[in-house]
Amino acid sequence: MSSKTKTPQKIPVSVIAKPGSSKANKTGSWRTQYPICDKNKCTACTLCVLYCPEGVIKVDKKSKYFVDLDYCKGCGICALICPVKALEMKPERR
Ligand code: SF4
Ligand code: SF4
Repeated sequence: MSSKTKTPQKIPVSVIAKPGSSKANKTGSWRTQYPICDKNKCTACTLCVLYCPEGVIKVDKKSKYFVDLDYCKGCGICALICPVKALEMKPERR
């Protein structure tokens, strides 16, 4: 067995310029689909909040979840991760 160790290689990282910069730019104008939340199905588990890469799923005063569509990119991760299928992706109509 060789005693040589490999030099760690650099791992490519995200190109977001600085933390929170995605909130600086409205992205909803080029989105092709958007999520809607059935508040009757939502169990408030917060999984969608944890997995949304943009941090745009918020809670209103009645503890109901909603998406800030000005900044949502329509990636669909929230709908995939929701365990009770409360989030559904709909096509944008322009
Ligand atoms: S579609 Fe993507 S960006 Fe929009 S709320 Fe869901 S996870 Fe976040
Ligand atoms: S993942 Fe689904 S059930 Fe959980 S908070 Fe989000 S919308 Fe509600």
